[in-house]
Amino acid sequence: MIKIAQPQIGQEEINAVSAVLKSGQLASGENVLQFQRAFSEYLRHGFCIAVSSGTTALEIALRALGIKEGDKIITTAYSFIATANVIVHVGGIPLFADIDETTLNISADSIEQILQEHVGVKAIVIVHLFGQSCDMDKITEIANRHRLLLIEDCAQAHGAEWKGRKLGTFGDAGAFSFYPTKNMTTAEGGMVVMKDEKAAGFARQLIQHGIKGRNQFEFIGYNYRLSEIAAAIGLCQLKKLDHFNSVRRKNATYYDENIAHCNIIKPQEVRGVRHVYNQYALRILNGKRDSFIAYMEKEGIGTSIYYPYSIPEQACYRSTDFLEKEYDKRLEVTNRMKHEVVSIPVHPGVIQDEIERIVTAINHFEV
Ligand SMILES: *Cc1c(COP(=O)(O)O)cnc(C)c1O
Repeated sequence: MIKIAQPQIGQEEINAVSAVLKSGQLASGENVLQFQRAFSEYLRHGFCIAVSSGTTALEIALRALGIKEGDKIITTAYSFIATANVIVHVGGIPLFADIDETTLNISADSIEQILQEHVGVKAIVIVHLFGQSCDMDKITEIANRHRLLLIEDCAQAHGAEWKGRKLGTFGDAGAFSFYPTKNMTTAEGGMVVMKDEKAAGFARQLIQHGIKGRNQFEFIGYNYRLSEIAAAIGLCQLKKLDHFNSVRRKNATYYDENIAHCNIIKPQEVRGVRHVYNQYALRILNGKRDSFIAYMEKEGIGTSIYYPYSIPEQACYRSTDFLEKEYDKRLEVTNRMKHEVVSIPVHPGVIQDEIERIVTAINHFEV
């Protein structure tokens, strides 16, 4: 079976972990500090804080920016559920926007529509889905015009760019995940990048129980720290990230050039974007997705649906009292795409021979 995802762990990571274990310093040491510094240098931007997951990275980003009880936050209806959950965790009210049909990213028009319907919106949480940038010209313009905080969920977009600038550097904050299926991993882990140094200091306190100096706690915070073991893996992975991404892009280019099927739509890299293909998501038309998945399985090729449901239609959101009554009316594109998309293996672990097998299988899919 060709797997849909596969972390790329080499001898470097094994040696680095081993060195940490032997050192006796398993938490709050030099590896975490170095990883934070290296990530800021990689982005050439801001102040990085290493945390326990992508989810806690997002939550800390929101809290450090002062988002609180009752704040209305616009976000995409089409993402991993964590994107919306953190808004609820900080007491915010998520307002779900529709997506763009080409990129599956949050639609600027849908954001504008929500801003016409709601007063007092505080922030936008965008997601660079599958490794492709949102339209940052339009979104930063909207955020500036309405004085909204902007938070980028970069959990699938490490190293991706919009017009030559890395994602995570446009917003007031960015959040990365290092879960094993992402473009780089630390097993579990995440990184917050803050534009403002003071907000970064606040975030640093938040992840350590609100600590201020030895035995002094200024406010009630959390323990969301990343371990030294994870940071040591992260330092190795960060060095390999550009290579991983270029292999993902090479695999995607091969698919772009060789998949040819009248009932399958391939993803499109938008002009000005450096897509990093956390996912290569096809769209299977005419209601044939289920049979496509069964066919691929028989061919020994792993697939996965990101995502079969919109976030607001999940039971946990439908049962809330803040979900807008007619939320679904706004989600016309989301509600079509969720029936069509399916991801095929594009990670750096697939070899050329497998890529060619995948293409041949897809081109022979009979509908
Ligand atoms: C993976 C992911 C997250 C959550 O990251 P974890 O490290 O699993 O907590 C958040 N948002 C998106 C878009 C993701 O893909």
